[in-house]
Amino acid sequence: MSVIETLKSNAENYGVAVSDELAKKLDIYARLLKEWNDKINLTAITDDEGIAVKHFLDCLLVSKASDFRKGDRVIDVGTGAGFPGLVIAAAYPDVKVTLLDSTGKKLKAVADIAEKMGVTNATVVHMRAEEAGKKPEFREKYDFATARAVAELRVLLEYTLPFVKVGGTFLSLKGASAVDEIDGAKVSLKTLGGKIDGVNEFVLPGGDKRAIINVKKISHIPSKFPRVSAQIAKKPL
Ligand code: SAM
Repeated sequence: MSVIETLKSNAENYGVAVSDELAKKLDIYARLLKEWNDKINLTAITDDEGIAVKHFLDCLLVSKASDFRKGDRVIDVGTGAGFPGLVIAAAYPDVKVTLLDSTGKKLKAVADIAEKMGVTNATVVHMRAEEAGKKPEFREKYDFATARAVAELRVLLEYTLPFVKVGGTFLSLKGASAVDEIDGAKVSLKTLGGKIDGVNEFVLPGGDKRAIINVKKISHIPSKFPRVSAQIAKKPL
């Protein structure tokens, strides 16, 4: 089965809609992901079934955890090859998506893929999250932040919550460790004004466990956060 056939047949079981328009874009994404992956190291998952399930379906599951509205701004922190941010941009053409990563060559590939997919509502930003989160053009400007496979939750909150408006949400895409990570993030949540607002658990076809943690931003972040990378690494909250 092709990537899109595999995606469609599985997505139905999760109540995730894949329109023909989205399918066309994701088909181009899958092809270019493999092409770029031959040149630079973008992703370890390159087989059709893996791309369909572990990338596309996994990312589309955010639609079960959130309600994106027209005009919403979303920032995907540590987007890598565009997951989940470019998938969200393709699925929600009325949402404005920022794809942020500290690795320029990955962003070059992602910008090329987005353009060829015909995605016009995504822009790439080459910066570290801790730096971008200090800048007025990014700080507290987003309705949603997302991140997958970037850092443990207590660290990730310091990277992502600075971008989120008060009342907005950080969607953290996690695996089986989600509950433990929430336990370990109590200080970080309290310090940075975040509150756990639900956890949606899924089992992907093949058996891998996934959880999307919704973190609501309930108050402004003290201006000293995010701290510089070395401090975050040395003394995580
Ligand atoms: N989110 C993608 C996914 O799920 O496939 C990529 C995951 S990859 C393991 C982690 C990505 O986060 C890398 O592309 C890395 O460059 C980026 N990253 C890690 N720390 C970062 C930071 N502090 N600021 C921006 N990007 C960061």
